[in-house]
Amino acid sequence: MATSPSTVPGRASAEIESKPISRVAAEKPLRDVMDGAQRLEIKCLDHGFVALVDAMPRLVPEGQTADAAIVQAARVSYGQGTKQVSEDKGLIRYLLRHRHTTPFEMVEFKFHIAMPIFIARQWIRHRTANVNEYSARYSIVPDRFYRPTMEAIRKQSASNRQGGEETFVVDGSDPDQAATASAFLEYLRDAESLYQKYDALTKRGVSRELARMGLPVNVYTEWYWKCDLHNILRFLSLRMDSHAQLEIREYAHAMYRLLEPMVPVTMEAWRDYEFESMHLSRLEVEAIRGHAGGAAPDLATSNKREAAEWAAKRAMLGLDRSV
Ligand SMILES: Cc1cc2nc3c(=O)[nH]c(=O)nc-3n(C[C@H](O)[C@H](O)[C@H](O)COP(=O)(O)OP(=O)(O)OC[C@H]3O[C@@H](n4cnc5c(N)ncnc54)[C@H](O)[C@@H]3O)c2cc1C
Repeated sequence: MATSPSTVPGRASAEIESKPISRVAAEKPLRDVMDGAQRLEIKCLDHGFVALVDAMPRLVPEGQTADAAIVQAARVSYGQGTKQVSEDKGLIRYLLRHRHTTPFEMVEFKFHIAMPIFIARQWIRHRTANVNEYSARYSIVPDRFYRPTMEAIRKQSASNRQGGEETFVVDGSDPDQAATASAFLEYLRDAESLYQKYDALTKRGVSRELARMGLPVNVYTEWYWKCDLHNILRFLSLRMDSHAQLEIREYAHAMYRLLEPMVPVTMEAWRDYEFESMHLSRLEVEAIRGHAGGAAPDLATSNKREAAEWAAKRAMLGLDRSV
């Protein structure tokens, strides 16, 4: 069989080494976006944390932020043709407003996160991240469980089947509610007490991969999670939203707080054009145009949930006052 030239031993490395590398020095002094820190950490829940451990770009020209990498990438596609959006901040705001994605994918952040498994299950649905999780087949699961405080135990929401809202009254003024909250904590203690059995059975030789089956989902896990900024913004939009579960919201807020100083222009644009903005459907636009105010065509009667959403938007827009 003929051997291709590149597979001849020694030939490939000779070809590789024959390529010269030209080194271009930075035009300006560079600064570390993490200011020399190994990690920047925010505690979450009772035993959790979100720690930023690395960033790309990590080094940016003095006086700039990681926003610079977005502008750099965008300019390669726009070249000189965008004089009207030539200012960096304006360009980033334009890109975000017009839903450009790839320039924001040029920035990446790597986190080390510790969270209860039931939160990890929600988090892992964000498929565009790279994840490496603690292995409970390889190692013993640490004895760490999330337990909300008595005051933070939420009741099932009446309006949202997926949510909990109001907390139980535990100041002694309503003995029934206090008893229910305390029964809930007892239930968690019972579940957590299975850890002793887990520990004992692994010591007696049961494999870790099977022994873990009896542990409750409020046990903590850890992972490294790396994601580009475009998809982090998507994660934050969904998980900082009031519809997200309170516990994952706490992590999303911590992540936002860590990233805001790294990419301040992008974060401001994201709040302006996405997170704190409002999407209007065609029916809602028609309702506003016609000053219908009270009900968008076909919404109020046909779809209760959509009608409620429209009512919330009207309230935010102050439309009800004008009809
Ligand atoms: C409040 C709330 C309630 C939820 N309830 C449930 C529930 O009851 N049950 C349930 O199963 N899930 C539920 N989810 C999870 C939800 O449906 C999404 O799976 C999760 O939020 C991840 O969103 P994403 O796909 O946008 O994120 P990512 O997976 O990070 O994807 C980001 C973007 O990349 C693109 N993308 C990623 N993968 C692909 C692909 N394979 N093909 C094409 N495009 C892709 C899409 O544009 C996507 O929006 C809930 C989420 C929230 C926020």
